[in-house]
Amino acid sequence: MIARVDLRGAALSSLDARALREALPRAELDVEAALETVRPICEQVHAGGVDAILDLDERFDGIRPPSLRVPAEVLDKALAALEPTLRAALEESIRRARLVHADQARVDSVTQVVPGGTVTERWVPVDRVGLYVPGGQAVYPSSVVMNVVPAQIAGVGSLAVASPPQSSNTGDFVGYPDPTILAACALLGVDEVYAVGGAQAVAMFAYGASDASGATVCEPVTLVTGPGNVYVAAAKRLLLGIIGIDAEAGPTEIAILADETADAELVAADLISQAEHDELAASVLVTDSEELAAAVEAALERRAARTKHTIRVKTALGGRQSGIVLVSGVDEGVRVVDAYAAEHLEIQTRDAAAVAARIRNAGAIFVGDYAPVSLGDYAAGSNHVLPTGGCACHSGGLSVQTFLRGIHVVDYSREALADVADTVVTLATAEDLPAHGEAVTARFASDS
Ligand code: NAD
Repeated sequence: MIARVDLRGAALSSLDARALREALPRAELDVEAALETVRPICEQVHAGGVDAILDLDERFDGIRPPSLRVPAEVLDKALAALEPTLRAALEESIRRARLVHADQARVDSVTQVVPGGTVTERWVPVDRVGLYVPGGQAVYPSSVVMNVVPAQIAGVGSLAVASPPQSSNTGDFVGYPDPTILAACALLGVDEVYAVGGAQAVAMFAYGASDASGATVCEPVTLVTGPGNVYVAAAKRLLLGIIGIDAEAGPTEIAILADETADAELVAADLISQAEHDELAASVLVTDSEELAAAVEAALERRAARTKHTIRVKTALGGRQSGIVLVSGVDEGVRVVDAYAAEHLEIQTRDAAAVAARIRNAGAIFVGDYAPVSLGDYAAGSNHVLPTGGCACHSGGLSVQTFLRGIHVVDYSREALADVADTVVTLATAEDLPAHGEAVTARFASDS
């Protein structure tokens, strides 16, 4: 079911970083390819507003919501209907996420560069964010927690959530997002929730949306965050510039670096746990143990046949994006997983913490036998909105920092500017931008 890529010995050492990346499993439908699909959807939302969004809801999610914005009483009803055990689990997830994210809060710094000359770095939250919560093949109340907690700790004033309407909802919730998602929003005090998913949700956040009478239903946002499938990731890439984005947090990836000490059953269970997200999810094992590879293959066959989402899992494991990569040793394995830059990386080797400390590229690292990715998905306290598709080379996961901008406030006295005037003029002259120098010397013209 799962393919093998043999990079033992010369096969690996002859590859430079780029060639190595290309030798590794990758998805057939990537974000670049999905751009052409989402472009007309985004244009339709821009031109048609609320009516266009409701049309797209019907087309892609099979139901036309009674209203684009979920009424406050529906949110209240969802919270009231939330099953107590699930409510307690969400509250524990929120508590742990708050603990970790509170430590990310930024403090303004003031640097006295010279007497009379200071640069202050002020951390200012963005004014308004659009938080995407997936709800296609699965529904993700956990993503409400992962989006909202850091945004609230950052101090964002205006938060809006969007999630696809569910055609299977009943009663008060017909045409709206899954009630657990609505309840999670209510639990966190978010009252602006829209029944829209996919690229159309990102476009609604970017452009805002008005109804046929011209009344604004959704104000545009400045930043869109959150995970989603390849269409959500493509819309974020397409609309970047009109909006800011966190990172491309698309179809889930798990890479596991394991040696012969790893338990094949646990490795297989973890590979399947991420494959069940999406047919495009990537499950990659990197190992130097032929025996482990064979045992994992057998365990995958057995477990995939009896898991609930067996077709989705088998499709993901059998896709070009998944595979077992054989390497000659753990050092080569580290090189491979660094080149791959997985969203989630598990280390199941001897001295796992020491191996983990050597990794440079990953969205999040899970160390040893007792830190499976699904712990991070729900309740480690870490954030589960993480970069995919190699973006972990340049971006980190969602955090309080994502919602903040550092603004330098420059405050120099006359004397402090006079002291550095020659330096500015020299550099301005070197760049052939003399007016820059004159802007400084003009301030002292009356002195001469
Ligand atoms: P989703 O909400 O992301 O996507 C559903 C929407 O996709 C639908 O509303 C529809 O509008 C759109 N869509 C579906 N088929 C389409 C098509 N052919 N053309 C255009 N638009 C289409 O929900 P999902 O599909 O369940 O995907 C959730 C994704 O989120 C999974 O891939 C999962 O792996 C990923 N995820 C990623 C992270 C991360 O941090 N990277 C975290 C959690 C989940």
